[in-house]
Amino acid sequence: SSSKDTTRNEHEEPSKHAPGVVLDKDGKPCRTCTSSAAWMAMMKSSPGKKLTPAAPVAQPPSDFPPDVEELGRSTWTMLHSMAATYPTTAPPETQSIMKQFISTFSKLYPCWHCAEDFRGWMAKPENEPKVQGQDELGLWMCQAHNAVNVKLGKSEFDCSLWKQRWKDGW
Ligand code: FAD
Repeated sequence: SSSKDTTRNEHEEPSKHAPGVVLDKDGKPCRTCTSSAAWMAMMKSSPGKKLTPAAPVAQPPSDFPPDVEELGRSTWTMLHSMAATYPTTAPPETQSIMKQFISTFSKLYPCWHCAEDFRGWMAKPENEPKVQGQDELGLWMCQAHNAVNVKLGKSEFDCSLWKQRWKDGW
């Protein structure tokens, strides 16, 4: 299948004006593409407000719309949990539904630049979703997550432990 984006219009490149703040096509900052730290720094330095670089940047309230990190954590929780509850051996129809879900997910994920990179990663033949059964899907999901970890400069998770983390407990 193609990784071409059929759901999203073209977007702007990340802003050059507010460090770390990513813009949508309409030029407005994309909350789900941006960290809270960058977001709050942008709010602090918005026109009319005096920027005080030494002052700590406030945390957003807990019921604020999710930033790129909270969205990511919640999404990985759902994706790994889906793998953890997937059939040991999935019937063809279930495999097909899972493939469809992953494809659709990768086009609708609310952080557009995350979604773009994720589709790019999946487009490589060796990274095609593995949906035969729970072990295959769980390992694939772990590898997908590790690809993002590497991109963000984080350490890789030991994928032999994915079931302890997301299914059985330690
Ligand atoms: P997370 O990476 O969210 O991980 C949550 C927990 O999962 C960890 O505490 C750990 O226990 C466990 N874990 C970690 N790695 C693995 C693994 N490989 N397998 C199994 N379990 C694991 N953010 C960006 O800034 N830029 C991006 O381009 C980007 N792309 C993303 C693409 C997708 C599809 C998703 C779902 C998220 C993306 N994110 C991106 C968000 C990013 O992956 C993190 O969720 C976010 O940075 C918060 O990281 P965290 O350190 O709290 O833990």
